Amino acid sequence: MKTTVSTRIPKVIEKSLKNQKLFKKDVWGYADTNKHVVVLEKAMGQRTWIEIYLHEHLHNFFPDLPERHVTKLAGILADGIWKKGYRRTAKKTKTRKK
Ligand SMILES: [Zn+2]
Repeated sequence: MKTTVSTRIPKVIEKSLKNQKLFKKDVWGYADTNKHVVVLEKAMGQRTWIEIYLHEHLHNFFPDLPERHVTKLAGILADGIWKKGYRRTAKKTKTRKK
């Protein structure tokens, strides 16, 4: 089996997916592999964010990889990153000059 690989870095969009009618079940993210866009729910816990971020990027880079493999890999990678203590920091806000 030949595996399709894309090296194109996706654009990441964070927004509320609560009322998305695109999917039947609740989703925390999705990857549009044709447009190279990863969309993430903006209200996620930090550990979940890491896993969903990796999960959707894996879909982007390996569009043929089965869902169960993407889920497994994203979980393993997220666990490793989390156990090393990596956390998201608050976004820097622009400070006005006086
Ligand atoms: Zn998936």
